[in-house]
Amino acid sequence: MICSICKSDFNIDSEGGVEGNFGILPVAFCSTCLSCIYDLVDELEEELEEDQVPWLTRVELDTLQRKEENKAWNGQKKQEAQT
Ligand SMILES: [Zn+2]
Repeated sequence: MICSICKSDFNIDSEGGVEGNFGILPVAFCSTCLSCIYDLVDELEEELEEDQVPWLTRVELDTLQRKEENKAWNGQKKQEAQT
C-alpha cells in the first residue's frame, strides 16, 4: 500500500496505518504519517478552541445587541402609543 502523504510503500497489516476516503478521494496513510495527522488535528483543535471563543462572544454580543435594539424599539412604540 502506498502512503498518500510520503508515498512510501507500507504494509497496513504489519505496520499499521489506515486507508479510507477523503470525500471521493481514496487515501492511505502509513503509521508515521497517521501519527503526524493526529498531531496536526490536535494542534488544529487547540487553535479552533481559541478562535471559537471570540467568535462565539461576537455572535452572542450581536444577539444581545439586537435584543436591546428590539427592546428599545418596542419601548419607543409603547411611548408613541401612550402619547
Ligand atoms: Zn506516510
